[in-house]
This record gives sequence, C-alpha cells and structure tokens, in this order.
Amino acid sequence: MDLSFTQEELAFQKEVRDWIAENYSEDMQRQNSLSKTNYLDKEGMIKWQRQLDDRGWFVVNWPDEYGGPGLTAAQRYILNMEMSAAGTPTTSPMGKSMVAPVIMAFGNDAQKAEHLPKIKRSEIWWCQGYSEPGSGSDLASLQMSAVRDGDEYVLNGSKIWTTHAQWADWIFCLVRTSKEGKPQEGISFLIFPMDLPGISVSPLPTLDGPMENQQEINQVYFEDVRVKISDALIGEENKGWTYAKYLLQIERGNAYAPGLKSMLAKTKKLASVEQSNGAPLIQAPDFQRKIANMEMKIEALNATELRIFSALSAGQGVGPESSMLKCAGSEVQQLITELSLEAVGGYAAPFVEDMFAVARAGANSDLPTPEYAATVSPRYFNYRKASIYAGSNEIQRNIMSKMVLGL
Ligand SMILES: Cc1cc2nc3c(=O)[nH]c(=O)nc-3n(C[C@H](O)[C@H](O)[C@H](O)COP(=O)(O)OP(=O)(O)OC[C@H]3O[C@@H](n4cnc5c(N)ncnc54)[C@H](O)[C@@H]3O)c2cc1C
Repeated sequence: MDLSFTQEELAFQKEVRDWIAENYSEDMQRQNSLSKTNYLDKEGMIKWQRQLDDRGWFVVNWPDEYGGPGLTAAQRYILNMEMSAAGTPTTSPMGKSMVAPVIMAFGNDAQKAEHLPKIKRSEIWWCQGYSEPGSGSDLASLQMSAVRDGDEYVLNGSKIWTTHAQWADWIFCLVRTSKEGKPQEGISFLIFPMDLPGISVSPLPTLDGPMENQQEINQVYFEDVRVKISDALIGEENKGWTYAKYLLQIERGNAYAPGLKSMLAKTKKLASVEQSNGAPLIQAPDFQRKIANMEMKIEALNATELRIFSALSAGQGVGPESSMLKCAGSEVQQLITELSLEAVGGYAAPFVEDMFAVARAGANSDLPTPEYAATVSPRYFNYRKASIYAGSNEIQRNIMSKMVLGL
C-alpha cells in the first residue's frame, strides 16, 4: 500500500487550491456559513455546480464517453480532500452520482442522450423517491403502484423523506409493478417529471427549525399520475431492485475524513473565540482532550479511507468497507456537532429564525446570539439524520455482521 502522493499529484493539489481561492466567492462563503447543512439555496448550488463543471470537476466519477474528466483515483481523492478542507458547498448527488450511473448502466440510448448532458450541466434538479411511509429499511415492502394502461403506467401512492423534492424537476422512483413472487421481484425503476398532473409535494418540518431557503425533506403524493412507459421505465420491468442496489452501493461509497477535518477546524475556531474561566475555551484541558479524541478518530478513519483509495487505485472494488465508513463517519460527524454545541454553550439556545429575523430587520439592538453561533444548534439537530439516511447505521451493522464476520 503506497499512501504518498507523487510530484504530479502534488501539482494537481496546488491547482485545485488555486482554483478554489479564485472561484469560491465571498458571497458563497457567507451563504454557506449560514447554512445548517452545507447546502446553498437552489440558485447558489446550481451556480457552484456549473462553475465546477466548467473546470471539469463536477461529474468527476463519470466515464470519459459521457464527459467525465478522466481523473485518476488519486486526483479524485485530492479534489474531494481540498474541497472539503476549504469547506466548499456540498453538491447535489441525486443527479450526477445517483440516477446518472443507473441511466448509464441500464437506460436506453434515448434516455442517455436526453438526461446525461442535462445532469452534467445541472439543468435538471433530481430527487430520489425510494422511501415510503411504511417502507424505509425494509425498502422491498414498498407499495406505490404503477399499473399498465396501454403504453402508460398509472401511478398511485406516496414517497417520504424526499430531499429537496420542492426544487426537483424530475424524480427517480421505485414502484411496484407486480405483487407476484418475492417483493424484490415486483419492483421497477422509473424516471419522470415532477410537474405532471396528480403530483403534489408537502414539506416536512424538522427539529432543526425553519430557515429561509433551507427546507430539506418532503412527502410527495401521486394520484393517478400518467407516465409513458417507454420514456419512464429504466431497463426491464420488475428488475428495479437490481438497479436500486447498484445505486445504493454508490451512495455509500463516500470519503468522510476530509469533511470531518473541516468540521473540526470550525469547532476549534468557535472554541478559540469562546471563553472559559477567563481564557479561550480551546486552552481548557478538558476541551483539549475532547478535541484530541476527535482528531484520533478522524485520523483512524482517514487511514482506512486511504487504504480503500489505495485498493481502488490498484483496480480493486469497495466491499462492505463502505458500511464501516458510513457508520464511523456519520458517528464522528454527530460527535463534532455536539462539541460545537458545547463550545458555544448558551449561545446555542436562541431559536435561529429569531436571530435572522433581527438581522433582516436591520434592528439596532444586539443580535440574540453572535452570528458565528447561529447555525451551531440547527447543525447539531440536522446531523441526527446522518445515522439514518443512506441506510441506517443499524442496517450497516447488519451488513458488516453478515459480510465481514460471517454471522
Ligand atoms: C434527512 C433525510 C433525508 C432523506 N432523504 C431521502 C431521499 O431523498 N429519498 C429517499 O427515498 N429516502 C430518503 N431518506 C429516507 C431514509 O433512507 C430512511 O429514513 C432510512 O432508510 C430509514 O428508514 P425509516 O425512516 O423508514 O426507518 P425504519 O426503517 O422504520 O427504522 C426505524 C429504526 O429501526 C431500525 N431498524 C429497522 N430495521 C432494522 C433491522 N433489520 N435491524 C436493526 N435495526 C433496524 C432502524 O435502524 C431505525 O433506527 C432520508 C432520510 C433522512 C433522515
């Protein structure tokens, strides 16, 4: 296993750093500092994604034939590391990393020609319609139905927890096309526009509180929605489960350590401003111990990720290690948000919308909390999601127990 970068890779690292310094504008940085998630608003995200695409760094994992930049595994790792270290906005994975690989692998030529270029240029916003009110971890039990009527499917049912459905132009959806045999054998994978008659989106409020332009999850209802089968169906009818599993493997294959380092750096900044017994909190031995504990966890994760990246460079695939990374990475994310909460103490208490309302009104009075502390508490609550989405951590542990321990 060789973990050191070559001269060319170090030169690439510098190129990325220079590009970020030039392109990650102050406006975007400010918007991102007020985000509870690292997502910008829709307009900001599309702008950022197009800037990345102009440089060839948006669809980094795509094959050359669809416009991928042909980066090596090491360059992709460096790009991810530098973007995270600079705290650049998260890009939406729904189009480029989730539905696009499925269209590439299982879609027909017309679907590829229609959708891939638009995904690359962020012209279409996608959302993922997998989970249903009664089907999350046990996804194969999903009930949303697609019934054939001539050359159309008629769709009825509901999807839930649908991230950014309110912004979405299109949805990729798992639907039930047969009740025969095993539940997995009656599922199909459909793609269709969100503005069809019979589709409605209802926002789901979350614990982290309402923040302007930061609505995240929704429930989507489908009532007698008609889609043309030849346009909407990916691959074969009743083979959707195979395509969905393919996609979930991709969803779980992310590197966490670079983002965690950037999160912890922000926590340290908070602790340098906050005081404890007349000195910056960052100097308090107990707090230092907690920071050191986080750093050790991140370094351990980093070593594992580098090991996986080294295996990928050598042409090997990622196996159940992706479940291990998902569990460890999301748990450390949550621990860091807890530490930030501890760092700002009482400043985390004012309800964040009040704080922004005061700022918006341009009032002369002091803000109820310093601006740097305003998103600490929403982020803490928001990150509770990390151990649930993309397959809950309990489900990941089940996978590890079967595939690694052979239980
Ligand atoms: C912020 C957020 C965004 C999301 N975005 C999307 C999206 O865009 N599109 C989409 O389709 N879905 C999305 N999801 C849904 C997500 O995939 C599901 O929440 C997740 O799969 C868990 O399903 P569930 O919520 O139905 O919980 P359940 O499956 O009901 O699980 C409840 C609890 O029981 C545990 N549990 C369940 N089964 C087992 C088992 N066999 N062994 C041990 N423990 C078990 C779970 O770990 C969990 O703690 C999102 C979720 C969140 C929180």
